[in-house]
Amino acid sequence: ENKMGIKGSPTCELVFKDAPAELVGERKLGLIKYVMALMNGARLGIGAQAVGLSEAAYREALAYAEERKQFGKAIIGFPAVYEMLGLMKAKLDASRTLLYETSRYVDVYKSYMHLSEERTLTKEERDDMKTYQKLADYFTPLLKGMTSEYCNQLAYDSLQIHGGSGFMKDYPIERIYRDARITTIYEGTTQLQVVSAIRGVTNGALLNRIREFEVMPLQPELHGLRRTLIGMTEEYEKTVKHLADIRDNEYLDFHARRLVEMAGHIIMGYLLLLDTERDDRFRTSTEIYIRYGRAENKARAEYISNFSINDLGFFKPN
Ligand SMILES: Cc1cc2nc3c(=O)[nH]c(=O)nc-3n(C[C@H](O)[C@H](O)[C@H](O)COP(=O)(O)OP(=O)(O)OC[C@H]3O[C@@H](n4cnc5c(N)ncnc54)[C@H](O)[C@@H]3O)c2cc1C
Repeated sequence: ENKMGIKGSPTCELVFKDAPAELVGERKLGLIKYVMALMNGARLGIGAQAVGLSEAAYREALAYAEERKQFGKAIIGFPAVYEMLGLMKAKLDASRTLLYETSRYVDVYKSYMHLSEERTLTKEERDDMKTYQKLADYFTPLLKGMTSEYCNQLAYDSLQIHGGSGFMKDYPIERIYRDARITTIYEGTTQLQVVSAIRGVTNGALLNRIREFEVMPLQPELHGLRRTLIGMTEEYEKTVKHLADIRDNEYLDFHARRLVEMAGHIIMGYLLLLDTERDDRFRTSTEIYIRYGRAENKARAEYISNFSINDLGFFKPN
């Protein structure tokens, strides 16, 4: 295939015609168990790929902004540029913390699975395994969806900071921009990640996890940021309830991405806050990300509350 990006990874289509096949595994578990396990592993990998691309895009932008001079000073001194860089770093740190948290859930439940091959698990261990497996099921599409979109936003902003030079093949950002594009497509598009993650919204699993983050101990200086996240959670809960009460699947599907992203902003806000509790170097990204997430969530909540089911007609094809 002649691709737009990731040219270091050769791609070709495989077509099987009348090929003799052998059944691997058990019947009726193909999609639910084997394909989903494979997809979730790959989605975690794309999440990591997206974090790497975001890191590269950020480093290129930072180096260029420090070096490039306009109107007598380095462009990093202009608010329009340093705001972009600050938000890029915040999204990068938010992506990485979500990647680590999701990988932790996967590690825990897989460790129990391996242990169960050696001996019978206690009831407590089995319950723990199920809890972490469920968390991994909802966090994996959230991770893949959010971080792949972020790495494209970072690549876009990084190229913008490069100005005209970014459009040339002279700088690595031109390649990063093209390489980032596939991450929201393969192993399931962002829209398909939303289809998987929305269950965690409607069955309350993501909210339950948020509630657990809410009561984790924090130093007093971070309580203000936690109050902001609690406010965002109330708004999220109200918006989810409003849509659930309408009881229309098509309407819910229409707004699903907005709900998943609202949950994502709150979860990544909490993860950054907990990172800051451990290491103050995350403080700036946490301050920026929670401010950003609050504004993003408010816009989504308002869009949904000012929308009625009849408004779908404006969008529907004739
Ligand atoms: C470089 C590259 C490498 C790849 N490698 C592999 C590989 O190794 N193995 C493999 O099996 N596949 C591979 N793929 C295929 C890849 O996983 C698919 O292209 C991808 O999952 C999207 O499917 P599609 O192209 O059929 O798009 P479609 O499913 O046709 O989607 C088209 C559009 O419709 C939207 N859409 C579709 N269904 C829904 C829905 N239910 N709800 C909302 N929106 C929807 C999508 O979001 C998208 O915007 C690769 C693709 C590329 C480009």
